[in-house]
Amino acid sequence: MLYLEQIKPYALLVDERTAQPTRVFKTERVRGGRAALLLADKEGYLRKKVLTRDDEPYLRILEGQPHMQRDPAAVLGCLLGGAVGDALGAPVEFMDWPAIRKEFGPRGIIDFVPTYGHLGAITDDTQMMLFTAEGLLRANVRSEARGICHPPSVIHHSLLRWLLTQGMRTCAKPNEYGNVIEVGTDGWLFQERRLWASRAPGRTCLNALGESTHFGHLAENNSKGCGGVMRVAPCAFFTSAFSTAAESSHMTHGHPTGYLAAGLFADILQRVWLTQIPLADAVLESLQENEHREGMEETKRIISTVLESSRRGVIPTPESIEALGGGWIAEEALAIGLWCALTAKSFEEGVIRAVNHSGDSDSTGLIAGHFLGLIHGVNAIPNRWLEYLELRDVIEQVAYDITYVPYAFDGEGGSQESTVIWDRYPGW
Ligand SMILES: [Mg+2]
Repeated sequence: MLYLEQIKPYALLVDERTAQPTRVFKTERVRGGRAALLLADKEGYLRKKVLTRDDEPYLRILEGQPHMQRDPAAVLGCLLGGAVGDALGAPVEFMDWPAIRKEFGPRGIIDFVPTYGHLGAITDDTQMMLFTAEGLLRANVRSEARGICHPPSVIHHSLLRWLLTQGMRTCAKPNEYGNVIEVGTDGWLFQERRLWASRAPGRTCLNALGESTHFGHLAENNSKGCGGVMRVAPCAFFTSAFSTAAESSHMTHGHPTGYLAAGLFADILQRVWLTQIPLADAVLESLQENEHREGMEETKRIISTVLESSRRGVIPTPESIEALGGGWIAEEALAIGLWCALTAKSFEEGVIRAVNHSGDSDSTGLIAGHFLGLIHGVNAIPNRWLEYLELRDVIEQVAYDITYVPYAFDGEGGSQESTVIWDRYPGW
């Protein structure tokens, strides 16, 4: 008899009735002694399977090797948490606090409300976060296969695929080598038609990506909109989080605050992920290490302010958030999301605070959700949100790939598993 509690993430599970091995990503005990499992098939795609006690005698574990030292539930929590915050804030992104209060009552919006024709619809923030993750994975595959890679340029290539999903064209002007930029449309994420939806995409991102003449083309604008910050959370799970996040943000946002705030965001997440220190300590460490970077002053000032406020036990309100800013620009969005995360007793409390103010609610909700989902794990996210979250399966798949692909890929032309990975994340 095999007890489901013994099945650890990444175990290869064989059901003797089908003899098909699947890899476990997540197990969860559900009602009636049943277990809900997220399993990856041999192509690497996740499937949901509900098992009962009656199934247990037929299950066998072939291998239980952990591929990651840290709990994968934190990666899943981080990505799903961000998307949930994005979806909760989406209906009120363009509303000020008095209008939100008038429509949803004194606590503001506390549940998903249909927007873009869906309950739990995500916005451009989550779309771009997913394409950033795709770029990181493709860069990882590339460096393993070829030994040479500039991850921000590969992320840039992925963001250009996102541009195509928005019905936009890439730049027709030749670059300095006389070539016109050519965007590859391979890989599985681009084929996911549910991502081909316009969800109030930021003009700065659309324009900068539409003007790129080569991969790695830095933005020729002076924008510090929050579009560079809200997409970089996946960088936290790969090496050099700060520089990868900052450099890939620089492809769309030319103002140092625009991309340095992105670097700081990913760096703080990475510190929490790797060492599990309290969020406030991670912020302090990250500030100490990065405050001397040129152009960091604005970000440092506002992040220090919210760190100090939370230390004094000052809880954010719609009014005090407004005094800090609207979150439309990078350092404000990071500060608002961070303040709400630092002062929250639960995932739910922090994310609700982060979306109820006169400002860019989906982005500040996403930032708070990424922090709180990472800290508290996926099980802390209320089911009433997870259940209706648009693209939940795609986000789960990307989270699994982040925790698995870098460990499983052993080079182009390597194992059968590597061939499958290369198909899904071609290394360019
Ligand atoms: Mg948005």
